[in-house]
Amino acid sequence: MENNSDLNNKYFIDSNAFNCPFCKLRNATYTIVAAIEYDINNNKKGCAVFVECNRCHKIKYAK
Ligand SMILES: [Zn+2]
Repeated sequence: MENNSDLNNKYFIDSNAFNCPFCKLRNATYTIVAAIEYDINNNKKGCAVFVECNRCHKIKYAK
C-alpha cells in the first residue's frame, strides 16, 4: 500500500501540527520552510519537506 502523503512521518499529526522532537512539545504548530522535489527513479518523484517548529524554531526534515 502506498502512502502519498508528503508528511507521512510519525511526528506529524496533520497539516498544521506535529510532535516536535526538539522541544518535545506535542501538537506544536509548524511552518513549512522548504519543499524540494527530487527523482526517486525515472517515473517517480519524491518530495522532501522541511518544517520549522513555531515554538523552538528548529528545522525538522519531513519526508
Ligand atoms: Zn520545537
